[in-house]
Amino acid sequence: MSARILNGNAIRDQIYTELQAEIAALTSAGIRPGLAAVRVGDDPASKLYVNSKIAACEKLGLASFHITPPASMTTEELLGLVNELNNRDDVDGILVQMPLPKQIDSKKILDAVIPEKDVDGFNPVNVGRLVAGRPALVACTPAGVMEILRRSNIPIEGANAVVIGRSDIVGKPQALLLLHANATVTICHSKSKDLPGIARRADIIVAAIGKAAMVTPDFVKPGATVIDVGQIVVKDAAEAQRIFAKFPAKLESFRTKGSILAGDVHPEVVEVAGAYTPVPGGVGPLTIAMLMSNTVKAARMRRGSRAPAAASSRT
Ligand code: NAP
Repeated sequence: MSARILNGNAIRDQIYTELQAEIAALTSAGIRPGLAAVRVGDDPASKLYVNSKIAACEKLGLASFHITPPASMTTEELLGLVNELNNRDDVDGILVQMPLPKQIDSKKILDAVIPEKDVDGFNPVNVGRLVAGRPALVACTPAGVMEILRRSNIPIEGANAVVIGRSDIVGKPQALLLLHANATVTICHSKSKDLPGIARRADIIVAAIGKAAMVTPDFVKPGATVIDVGQIVVKDAAEAQRIFAKFPAKLESFRTKGSILAGDVHPEVVEVAGAYTPVPGGVGPLTIAMLMSNTVKAARMRRGSRAPAAASSRT
């Protein structure tokens, strides 16, 4: 048996098509949703992430404001900048790229983004709304996972879902979203006992661990859906061999580049699962798509009755 591949790029493109139409309608009604992306310092990975978010804004017709203060900035100075953005009418969403330089209190900064513009869904008010089943702006990666499941017609109601990982950014909001969609949810973490045994009861596994290929085929009930959130750069040759022994093209790519991207799920899970998301090309593309979707949602919520009606009901 070989699992159905859930193609994140195709689902992202579907969402982009919907968003493009929605943004065009909003813009002609005089509301051009705008995203402010703040990147402090010159971290190369952050540069890459923020650049791809800005590129997505440009592709969809969102206004974008790329703000790049120096790495020497203090917490107070960055708080001042966030407050300025909180007060700007042309900014609907504010994104502060993590990680921030050591001298900055990241929690203080994230809490300072007003809930109405918190397109990452990290503000405790938005987390509380999610817990209460009245979600407003929801964390992008778990929201993207729900889009993959729904748009791929994977039954969620009544399903046993096992979420591996309990971070504030992925695992916890993921578990809540699945719960609100009427799954029976188990949350696992590093202290859980008999993880493979718990996972084998799942109809849906979501792995958000950060440990390359930890979820091996013995974790998976035949036919289960396996969603792989993990993104780990593997640089060790023996580790690459352990993961990609049956995937010669991947091993070749590792030999050429000296590294390769892996997920939390061992690719041989494809032999047992009913459906799965590959890495790359699974969950990753949805994270940016949901950031764009949240920016449009934030514009609608904040500018209220001036906005024309929404056509779709994304997470
Ligand atoms: P995190 O904050 O490090 O959390 C990892 C979670 O996994 C923790 O809850 C931890 O348990 C659990 N864990 C660690 N080792 C475990 C083990 N051996 N058995 C069971 N559970 C274990 O990571 P995160 O921010 O949630 O991210 C997880 C992965 O997703 C990373 O690879 C990250 O790069 C990726 N990610 C991808 C996207 C995307 O767009 N595709 C977005 C966000 C994150 P404890 O709580 O007990 O420590």
